[in-house]
Amino acid sequence: MKILKIDHLGVAVKSIDKGKEFWTDILGLAFEGAETVEVQKVTTAFFPVGESEVELLESTAPDGPIARYIEKRGEGIQHIAFRVENIDEALEELKENGIQLIDETPRTGAGGARIAFLHPKSTGGVLVELCERG
Ligand code: ZN
Repeated sequence: MKILKIDHLGVAVKSIDKGKEFWTDILGLAFEGAETVEVQKVTTAFFPVGESEVELLESTAPDGPIARYIEKRGEGIQHIAFRVENIDEALEELKENGIQLIDETPRTGAGGARIAFLHPKSTGGVLVELCERG
């Protein structure tokens, strides 16, 4: 498997508008608009930082995964995403190594990326996202 870089850090927030007050108004990171991925009950906004990005995630429903995360653990870093060259190959290799996958096959994430999550049980407590962009 070839990991190319940290693609982004996912940060769970109650409100992207409120989050922008820190990430954009204070830190000066560009806000390039938000996108809702309805099946995942989440609105995301990406803030480029050099070759990586910060992703703010806001729930669109009280029972969405981000809402549940904030309920349990509060706002903060929710996942780390690695850009991989070939996500199908990467998932195959991880499966062979006994890593527990949340997504057995890639799904479509924000910006049309192909993404898949690995279970924190297999990664030392870190929710890891793999992401392949065309
Ligand atoms: Zn992400």
